[in-house]
Amino acid sequence: MRLLNVALAATALLASAFAVPSFAQDKGTIGIAMPTKSSARWISDGNSMVEQFKAAGYETDLQYAEDDIPNQLAQIENMITKGVDVLVIAAIDGTTLSNALENAAAAGIKVIAYDRLIRDSGNVDYYATFDNFKVGVQQASSLVKGLGERFGEDPYNVELFGGSPDDNNAFFFYNGAMSVLQPLIDSGKVVVVSGQMGMDKVGTLRWDGAVAQARMENLLSANYTDKQVHGVLSPYDGLSIGILSALKGVGYGSGDLKMPIVSGQDAEVPSVKSILAGEQYSTVFKDTRELARVTVGMVNALLGGGEPEINDTKTYDNGVKVVPSYLLEPVSVDATNWEEILIGSGYYTKDQVQ
Ligand code: BGC
Repeated sequence: MRLLNVALAATALLASAFAVPSFAQDKGTIGIAMPTKSSARWISDGNSMVEQFKAAGYETDLQYAEDDIPNQLAQIENMITKGVDVLVIAAIDGTTLSNALENAAAAGIKVIAYDRLIRDSGNVDYYATFDNFKVGVQQASSLVKGLGERFGEDPYNVELFGGSPDDNNAFFFYNGAMSVLQPLIDSGKVVVVSGQMGMDKVGTLRWDGAVAQARMENLLSANYTDKQVHGVLSPYDGLSIGILSALKGVGYGSGDLKMPIVSGQDAEVPSVKSILAGEQYSTVFKDTRELARVTVGMVNALLGGGEPEINDTKTYDNGVKVVPSYLLEPVSVDATNWEEILIGSGYYTKDQVQ
């Protein structure tokens, strides 16, 4: 009997020795649905989240859908079936998840829209993102600054590019940019020679750089055989690289044909290199580590019975409700401040971009 007791006590001790660390690590599983690995920013987002969720004691299930909507839907359904505790979703098409999210709600799974708003669903609990309107303002402000620096007196010939029309952010970027550009267009200081304006005309499905390159080639051959383009509003680095290829293809950036001012977003490595080489003019840095931190904070509050921290309850109406949001600050980056912002913050090492 005594022996048995000793054995039982030993087993209990052993069990508790193992139970303690596994309990500490067992705060729940977070399903993370990301749109694509074709853009480096989403890889950084995914890595930062896995790292920070693990450090906070969560398991993660991170999936990328290569910009394929049915693929992302299947990944999310699968996470719901597996019984994750919270879903963190950067949607490919923000309007296609309503049914899946009904299933999530029925299973008691909370949902955080990550970076991109999920539309047409009441089952979106919180939204973690950047100030997307401000991103557009920064893109256009930097474009205008560059035009003055490189080309002197106005008027300037400018073409406009928008992001993917199925991404709510694309409209915020465009509207933010137009809040700066429209008055200049109205006063004749900026001329959109092609006349192509509005997201229905300038949107770029799936943020595809090849699509942007082809459109820029067409714009150049249809409108600029006898005049020069001075600037291009580009909402994302992947598009900017395509646009720059089209421009270089017809001789811009060599001889006396100066490179037009081209904006961007995400501070992706090829674009930072391009800025350092004097080709792309600027980008907008959005620190994905910070977005991950905000998201982990929201999950901690949701699962711990607290209130997630938010700083905006007005801006993001998804068609069913205004989703409570936390907006981070974007930072405009060009050849004058890249080192301080991108290297100084430890986001990149110098070797990565030089
Ligand atoms: C993101 C941008 C990104 C774009 C293309 C948007 O939803 O907010 O940071 O450039 O998607 O991936």
